[in-house]
Order: sequence, then C-alpha cells, then structure tokens
Amino acid sequence: MKPSSPLLILLFTLLLPLYSATVAVTPAIAQQVAVVDTAIEQQLDQLLRADLSNDQRRQAFHTIANDMAESAPIATRVRVLAYLAMEYAYIEQFDEAYRRLAEVRQLAEQYGTIDSLTEVRATYIEIKLAEGKFTEALSLVGETELGLAQTQSPRIRYYSHTLIASVYSNRNQLEKALSHLVSASEAIMETNDSRTTIRRLHVMLQIAQIQSQLHNNEAALARVNEVLELAASAGLTDMFYHDAMLQKALIETNAGDYEQALRTYSALKASLTEQTTTNSHWYLSTVLNNMGDLDIRTGRYDEGREVLAEARELALANGDDDSVKLTEFNIAFIDVHQGLHQQGLEQMSALVEHFQQRWPETDFEQLLGEYAEALGIAGDYQRQAQVLLQQRDIRDRLFDRELQRNLTELQTVYDSKDKEQQIKLLQQQNSLKEQLLTNEEQRQTILTLLIALSVFAVIIVFFLYRAARRANRQLKHANAKLADQSLRDPLTGLLNRRALQQQLAKPRSSGSGCDAMILLDVDQFKRINDHHGHQAGDQVLVELAKRLRKVSRDRDQIIRWGGEEFLIYVVNTSNEALPNLVERVLFEIGRTPIALADSELQVTATAGFISFPFANPDSQPIGWEETLQLADMALYAGKVHGRNQGWGIMRLNVPFSQARQRLETDLPGAIDDHLVDVVTVMGPQLS
Ligand code: GH3
Ligand code: MG
Ligand code: MG
Repeated sequence: MKPSSPLLILLFTLLLPLYSATVAVTPAIAQQVAVVDTAIEQQLDQLLRADLSNDQRRQAFHTIANDMAESAPIATRVRVLAYLAMEYAYIEQFDEAYRRLAEVRQLAEQYGTIDSLTEVRATYIEIKLAEGKFTEALSLVGETELGLAQTQSPRIRYYSHTLIASVYSNRNQLEKALSHLVSASEAIMETNDSRTTIRRLHVMLQIAQIQSQLHNNEAALARVNEVLELAASAGLTDMFYHDAMLQKALIETNAGDYEQALRTYSALKASLTEQTTTNSHWYLSTVLNNMGDLDIRTGRYDEGREVLAEARELALANGDDDSVKLTEFNIAFIDVHQGLHQQGLEQMSALVEHFQQRWPETDFEQLLGEYAEALGIAGDYQRQAQVLLQQRDIRDRLFDRELQRNLTELQTVYDSKDKEQQIKLLQQQNSLKEQLLTNEEQRQTILTLLIALSVFAVIIVFFLYRAARRANRQLKHANAKLADQSLRDPLTGLLNRRALQQQLAKPRSSGSGCDAMILLDVDQFKRINDHHGHQAGDQVLVELAKRLRKVSRDRDQIIRWGGEEFLIYVVNTSNEALPNLVERVLFEIGRTPIALADSELQVTATAGFISFPFANPDSQPIGWEETLQLADMALYAGKVHGRNQGWGIMRLNVPFSQARQRLETDLPGAIDDHLVDVVTVMGPQLS
C-alpha cells in the first residue's frame, strides 16, 4: 500500500475546532446538581442547533449574556460566558477568547461548583485545540481529568471527555483517547434528551477517526456509514453529513480505493457548493486539496495542479495558513513528478519541517511517506532512505503490537457500551412510541365518545324541540280556540257583543270607507217563548242567525247583540245603499215562516240603522257607542210606529252635542223640528 497522503492532518488541525463547536452544544441535563436557569439553557441548546454563521451565533450569545440577570445561576452564567469566549476562538481572536475565559474562570473559582470549573477547563482545552497548540492542550488535560472525577453534570463530563480524547488522539495516544471516549459514552447514557443522539454521533465519528488512524479501514468505514445512516434516520444529516463524508473519503483513500474516494468527494463538493458559510469554504478547500492529492496518486498531474490551485485560492481567501501550505506541498509534489526536482523538493522539505511540530505523528508519518516518494523520483536515494527510516520509527511506535491489543480491548469496551446505550435508546423510543400509541388510542376513544354524545345530544335536542314545537302549536291552537270562543255566541255561533267592542275599540285605519250599523230587535219575542216554549225561541234565534248570514256579505259582521237583538256591521257601504239593504234584511227575516217541530211561525223584526262614522255638522267625531245609541233610538221609533220596519238616521242638521238630549228623549219631535233626517223602510206584508 502506498503511504497515505497528508490530508488527515488537515482533518486534525481544522476539523477539531468545528468539531468542538458542535460538541459544546450539549444541553443542560436533568441530573445536573448545580442550579441552572432552564429557560436560558434551552435557549442555548436551540442556538447551537440553529443554522447560523459564526457572526450570527456570536451575536446571539452576546445578546443572551447581556440580557442575563446578575442573579442568574452561576452554572448557567459560566456556560453562556464560556460559549461566548469560545466564539472568539472560532474567529481566531484568541487573545479576546483567553481574556474572556479568564474572567469566566474567576467567576467559577469564586462562586461556582466543580462542574463550572471543569467546564471552564475544558473550554481552555478547546481554545488550545482551535489555536493548533496541541502540546499546551495536552498540558491542561491532567488538571481537567482530576476535576472530572467529581463533576456531576453529564453534559460537562461528556464535553470534557470528548475534548480530552481529541487531545490524546491528536498526540497519538490512542489508548487514552479511546478510554475517554468510553467515559464520554457513559456520560451520554445519563442524558435522556433530544441531544443524546447528536452526542452519540459525535463520539462515533471520533472513534471512526481513531480507527482510521490505526489503519483499521474496514472498521472505520463501517462506523462512518453507521453515522451517516443514524444521522439520516434521526433527521440530523445537515449536522453530520460533511464531517462524515470527509472522513469516509479519507478512509477510502487510505484503503487505496481512489475511485470511490473521488466519488465521495464529488458528492461532498456538490453539497458544499450549494452553501456559502465560512465552514463550507473550509470544507471546500479541503475537499479540493484532497481531490488534487488523488489526482497525483492516479498520475493526473495537470488536473491535480488545477484543482490544487483552486484549493489554494480558497484557503488564502479563508486566511487558512495550514491549508495554503498543504496545497503548496501537494503542488510541489507535482513539480517533482513533472521533473522540476530541485524546486519541488526544496519546498517539500521546508513544509515537512513546518508540519513536524504542528501535526500529530499519524499524519506526519504520511507526509514523510510522500516526501520520501518524491526524493525517490528525484533520485536522491540517500536522503530517501533517511526519511523512510524516520517514517518507520514513527510507525513502529504507532503500531506497537501490545498497544494494538489494548486498543482492540478498549474498542470492545466502547462497542459494548455503545450497544448498551443503543438498546437503552431503542427501549426508550419504543416505550415512547407505545405511550404515543396509547395516547392516540385514548384520544380516539374520547373522540368517538364525544361524537356519540354529540349525536345523542343533537337527537335529544331535536326531539325536545319537536315536542316543544308541537306543544306550542297545540297551545296556540287552544288559545286561538279559546279566544274565538270568548268572542262567539254559543247558541247561534255568531260573534258576540265583546267581539265588536274589541274591534271598534281599535282605531279605524284611515282610508277605510264608510261603514254602517243595523240594529235588529225581534218583534214580540216574549210571546214566542210564552206560546211555544223557550226551546222554540232558541230555534227561532238560530234560524234567524242563518237568515242574517245569508243576506249579508262575507266581510260584514253579524253579532248577537243581546237576547233577541242582532247587529249587522256593514263594511264599506254608503248612506244611499243602506235603506235597500235593510229592506232586504227585513224581508229575509219575515217573508218565509220559520218551521218549528209542531208549527210554523211568522217572525218579524224592527231595525234601527245608521252609517258609521256618522257625519256631524260641526265635524266633531261621534264615537261608535253614541252612534249605536242613535240607531237604538231609531229602532225604538220603529217599534213605536208598529214594528216590522226599519228606521235609519240619515243626517244630523245640528251638531250632535246640541241635538243629543232631544234625540234621546223625543226623537219624533226632533224629526219634526228637522234636527235630524230619517228614512223608513217597511218589512214584508204579512198574510
Ligand atoms: P218587542 O221587542 O216587540 O217590544 O217585544 P218583545 O217581547 O220582543 O220584548 P222584550 O224585550 O220584552 O222581550 C224579549 C224576550 O226575549 C225576553 C226574554 O225572555 C226573551 N229572550 C231573551 N233571550 C232569550 C234566549 O236566548 N232564548 C229565548 N228563548 N228567549 C230569550
Ligand atoms: Mg228586545
Ligand atoms: Mg223584541
């Protein structure tokens, strides 16, 4: 197998800060002993998951820090301020980052618990890693490890262990790195929140990286694929895709599967060109550099030169010095391949020196491999032999058998922890699903019951409504019947006196024409009763009612005014038509004898009639009762003048108020004195 290219180095020096950025995004944990401000902690968790640029995220942390009350719990204040310090490291303002973190340390030392202190210490390590100061980072590990033993918060333990693992794996102390990842894994198991899977994925990626450092390509690849699958199923692809794909391509390259590695890079490049964040620029320059490296391996030097130039441009624009140097190293390698031996080798040698101090041995060893290859091409075999020896030394140290065995054991421990956790997670998910299912079932049952209840209620209401409506209708009908009954005479079925009173009490509608009243009194009715019995008298009354109905129009009203008195209220007639109408009424009553059980009876009646409203010379209205009184006087005159005739009062010649008394007491005199004009109508000649 050809020695691997130096690209892994890039992964270490540049990936780590980003990595930690996401590592740091763990939320407050339920078991945390220190008091926290849940609202702020949740705000932090949301921010960390949000798709923000460095500037936006730093600004957001500033806002939270400014809004945070002095009285906020120390643990929360430390977390916020440590994040803020870290944000300055991400934009490479390390002085500002350290200044701020020193303040946070003071706060934690003065008021905080060991948890806060550990968080601060771990943040120091993260800044050192971001700065590329791996030795200094290593020097901070001991102190942090000490405090970790007493740290309660699983979030802080997880955060610290993964950072320490990074430091160790960077220094090639893979055994220790793995053991810290096992501890990180244990800490994750104590967390039961939405971020648990995110943390697991981070640890899995770190394990894959260590496996790849150990040239255990098959296991590393399997792990990375697992990360990609789990991230996809957990909806976390956006968070892990780039790291995992880059790792995958590196492993494929290590395994010598250059075509597959190129395909992975192409997919990654396509996804990256859709984005424009600072991080995506870094990824893109790395991807292009690594693609250039693959071109060298496959002898496509011109293509390699082109893509490396592009990568260098991007790295320059990003201000990413190590990436610039790495692309230069690869370009120099092409120079050597293409015959520019001296120039290429000089540059490669200088860059080897540059990276020797900065890179972990696993990566540096690969760089040496390429340099040795270049020396061979140039024919400098003596120097090549030296470099290869140096490389072998490192390799021997790295891949010591005893160490490998220990690492395998540790991996097994990690794997079992990971399995355990996976099972626990699955169980949690299952019980959650079951709960959701039960909830759903309950919801359905309640819904069904509610619907049934509603339908039932609607039916009941409908029936009640119908019953109420029917009862109402019946009541109305009964009321109407009652009202009607109270207005009718039971013997004849005619309207009674109250009906007319009721009607005439209402104001007459303007524009209605002239009406009239014909008052009738049966002649000598007492005699009928006396000679034929009261029942016969009743029969006569019933028959007379029939005859009156016959002679009247439908709209006229026939009223039984008293014992044997009737009133016809004639609607819309005239003074001129009135005598004729009265004549017809008298004839209808008297022309044909009324048949009784044992005999026939000749019955007549006398009428007094008057139009209504009655014209008063002084235009003072005369009420209906007074008008009827006048008709009664006229009727009386008819009785006096021999019965079976009608007397109508046609006109008043003096105002009613003046004539009233005279009319009441002496109608014939009043007629003679022309106070009033009357007309008389004769009934039928009796046989
Ligand atoms: P005239 O009016 O012609 O002067 O004589 P009259 O006999 O009709 O006069 P009066 O008013 O004295 O008599 C009316 C009688 O009618 C008295 C009463 O017994 C009778 N009567 C009143 N209401 C009824 C009734 O509903 N049925 C019967 N059968 N008789 C009634
Ligand atoms: Mg009478
Ligand atoms: Mg009478």
